[in-house]
Amino acid sequence: ELRTIELNPNALTLNTDIELGAGNFATVVPGILRMRSREVRAAVKVLKQANNQELLREELMREAQLMHQLDHPYIVRMFGVCDNNKTLMLVMELAPLGPLNKFLRTQREIMTSSGIALLLFQVAQGMCYLEERNFVHRDLAARNVLLVTECYAKISDFGLSKALNAENVYEARSVGKWPVKWYAPECIDFFRFTSKSDVWSFAITMWEAFSYGEKPYRGMRGSEVHDFLQKGNRLSSPLGCPPEAYSLMLDCWKYQSDVRPPFQQVRQRMELLMAGLEAGLN
Ligand code: ATP
Repeated sequence: ELRTIELNPNALTLNTDIELGAGNFATVVPGILRMRSREVRAAVKVLKQANNQELLREELMREAQLMHQLDHPYIVRMFGVCDNNKTLMLVMELAPLGPLNKFLRTQREIMTSSGIALLLFQVAQGMCYLEERNFVHRDLAARNVLLVTECYAKISDFGLSKALNAENVYEARSVGKWPVKWYAPECIDFFRFTSKSDVWSFAITMWEAFSYGEKPYRGMRGSEVHDFLQKGNRLSSPLGCPPEAYSLMLDCWKYQSDVRPPFQQVRQRMELLMAGLEAGLN
């Protein structure tokens, strides 16, 4: 059922002098992948040598296989895996401008509300595709939205992603290293993940984008955020954020998951917002 995704190691050239980023267990370096008739720029996730253990290899392989099933313009493409010198490598499409949060912090002047809305509209389209395919991302955040250009965003980091069960739910068995400030209350309380919990995370991502890369719930601990939300509090509107954008965020942060809008509707509202901003109506 799963297509083979092994790439020929000879078709891959790494540039180990440059590091695009690093996680806990892996580093990401640029590379060139030679395909049948062309060459493509790649981002290659390589397990740090000390972490080259069976369990982590399996985890990375699962991430690669899940991503390889996805085919959408607003989702980072997985070309395949290379198992060179006993080091497993994930070969992905390169998003040269890197994570959205960092980009907005440094390129604040060049990004308008309308430009930000366009990027979020693209993310909403990618999330609609995931929702249709019954996958949950579980780590949607501005750090995991990567930029191909300043007006082209793609969703990345499928390390926590899962296929949903027949009830369209993923039930985690235990707490892991979770991005709790991006998680809906039912994720924390009942380990229950659905597309509606991704909708919550999408709105946190919106908030990060309209605050130009600020961290959500600054100065609070994860456990404090949970109480804060339960009391009915929410992140306040970023300065200069279009009111329609903030009202969408609030709808996505409804405590009850079933009253949050599905991604289909989030996408429509993002499109309207973007069109309005472009026309200068806001
Ligand atoms: P961990 O496994 O600890 O959670 P991580 O999930 O953050 O690590 P990634 O998000 O996969 O690891 O990658 C780490 C960094 O590498 C990203 O923040 C980004 O800067 C860079 N990166 C990842 N993929 C790409 C890509 N396709 N194009 C450009 N840069 C990328």
